[in-house]
Amino acid sequence: MNNPAHHASTYRAFTVTGRQRFELVERVRRPPQPGQVRIRVEACGICHTDVLAVEGLRPDPSAPIVPGHEIIGVIEAIGEGAGPAWQVGDRVGVGFLGGQDNTCESCRRGDYVNCSGQPQTGTAVDGGYAEVTYARATGLVRIPPGLDPLADAPLLCAGLTMYTPEPPCDDSAGQRSSSPPPPPGHRCRRWSRDSAHEASWSSSEPPPTRSR
Ligand SMILES: [Zn+2]
Ligand SMILES: [Zn+2]
Repeated sequence: MNNPAHHASTYRAFTVTGRQRFELVERVRRPPQPGQVRIRVEACGICHTDVLAVEGLRPDPSAPIVPGHEIIGVIEAIGEGAGPAWQVGDRVGVGFLGGQDNTCESCRRGDYVNCSGQPQTGTAVDGGYAEVTYARATGLVRIPPGLDPLADAPLLCAGLTMYTPEPPCDDSAGQRSSSPPPPPGHRCRRWSRDSAHEASWSSSEPPPTRSR
């Protein structure tokens, strides 16, 4: 926390405009808006979906945007209404779905994934290729101690695609799950092994080896 960059009034971010026009810019460190937190980014993974921002496949590619939606960082400011569940100093993750609005019809049914007012991190709102990012408190997940931001940031998107097919399984050892080829294969293998599930997928990778 003694790093002067943590207290600077500006931060650096990589934006992309149009197609593949990257630029390193300096931005003002503004207070988070109501319902938001400001996060000091520790790591941000790279996902194939970043192609939407990088190739200009979004409604207004003429507006610069910061890509990246596999973010792990530490909260450094809390906007009005974003606490008390979240506090300055909490390590959090942000994925592609940037937090439900809690007001639309889907939200009223508890179907937050299909919220019609949910920003898409790194495509519709600025993401994590920056020293600082902003996120809705409703889009945050808590990062437990022991996870390594640099190694585990890909869990925030690619890891989710691995985890999502799991809930229908009962939680006993030896259950089999299948999912699309998970890009961060080694992390998924470790998770699969630790949770005592057997994973299978149809990529060109060799099958994962079990350690037990
Ligand atoms: Zn909603
Ligand atoms: Zn992704």
